[in-house]
Amino acid sequence: MTGQILIAGGGEAGLSIATTLREAGYDGGICIVTDEGVAPYQRPPLSKEMLHGTDELPDVQLRAPEFFQDNNIELLVGRSIESVAMHDNGGTAVLDNGAEITFDRLAVATGSTPMQLPVPGADLDGVVSLRTLDDAVRLRDLLDHAQRLVVVGGGFIGLEVAATARLRGLEVTVVQNTDRLMSRVVAEPVSAFIHTQHRAAGIDVVLNTSVTGFTGVDGRVTSTELSDGRSLPSDLVVVGVGARPVTALAQQIGLSCDGGIIVDAHAQTSHPAVVAAGDCTVQPHPNALDQLIPIESVNNATEQGKTAAHTLMGSPPHVRGVPWFWSNQGATKIQIAGISDGYDDVVVRADGLDRLTALYYREGRLIAADSVNNPRDHMAVKRALAADKSIDPTRAGDPSVPLKTLITE
Ligand code: NAP
Repeated sequence: MTGQILIAGGGEAGLSIATTLREAGYDGGICIVTDEGVAPYQRPPLSKEMLHGTDELPDVQLRAPEFFQDNNIELLVGRSIESVAMHDNGGTAVLDNGAEITFDRLAVATGSTPMQLPVPGADLDGVVSLRTLDDAVRLRDLLDHAQRLVVVGGGFIGLEVAATARLRGLEVTVVQNTDRLMSRVVAEPVSAFIHTQHRAAGIDVVLNTSVTGFTGVDGRVTSTELSDGRSLPSDLVVVGVGARPVTALAQQIGLSCDGGIIVDAHAQTSHPAVVAAGDCTVQPHPNALDQLIPIESVNNATEQGKTAAHTLMGSPPHVRGVPWFWSNQGATKIQIAGISDGYDDVVVRADGLDRLTALYYREGRLIAADSVNNPRDHMAVKRALAADKSIDPTRAGDPSVPLKTLITE
């Protein structure tokens, strides 16, 4: 199969599309355009290992430089696609340097961008967000010189950065505007468990409180103002209050968007010549609920990228595994299998203060689980979900019984 496929975005999803196309035998042209100045890299270490402050920066490249040449994949770094005009048999993209790329099919993998805090002082030096490799290198440097870190947002970014900074000896306060940590993704018992672990590590957690602004001296942040009237001395602030899908290009083309680029289970957009994958998309809920959801994870980016590549080639659909997420927050390792949205029951198995697993059920069937410091439970749940089986909810709460022995039809 020949032709020219243009991939907008050089993150995990964009790379997955290109790699899968070649693995599946596509011999036409592939061009990846990324506005970042570097070849595709792993994001998970950016909020963990990259910030440790050891002498050497970890190598986060996803592929060696020769990979792109060896696989005849043109990689344009530091370039952005300014506009795309679709024709009957594909389209033409215009880059920021005026160059034009004609293509038969387009894959949009433009990712997401951190949400900003719309409060006074958010533009002061020392108030930062974290998404890119450049952001991580800058933050690592700032951590070298900071003593008092305030983290706004008790989600993935916030808690991973908080835990890493605390291990480096900083005083750390996490400010979350709702009544519990990670409220978007885990059930209350898991939030409480994680909260206890972070408190034990010496992190101060402030709940039900908003940041009303930042004040500074000579353009540099010195304190964080809270809605309860308190002022927290801060020489560094990391804002991790969620991410917004990047859909400007998709909207310019006229793709249907609603909180992300709308795709079906085959990563097909509303335009027949365009697929999309990764954090920029919303897709049908895997639990067959009648709704579209974003799935913001590396696992989704790679799997949906494979799906998109199969669709581009017209080959049989890629069979996706069980969705998973993980988050290392200092000594606390959270592993999530499945998607828990729509659950109507939770069974918690706690093993002292060290381990906890929450199993989510819908109409009596297992749909997902969060395991904290409990890889055995995580593996058992993944195995059950992959085989379309359940785990007996009446006995799952007993931590002395291995979950793998409770797998049922
Ligand atoms: P996130 O996981 O959505 O967490 C944002 C947190 O900030 C939520 O707990 C949210 O609470 C809270 N929040 C929102 N507005 C706030 C405000 N004004 N003040 C205080 N708290 C506020 O997003 P993130 O941590 O910023 O991460 C960004 C993206 O990177 C996400 O797509 C995430 O999945 C991804 N990421 C993933 C990993 C991983 O999988 N390990 C690691 C790092 C980043 P509510 O939910 O209650 O609004």
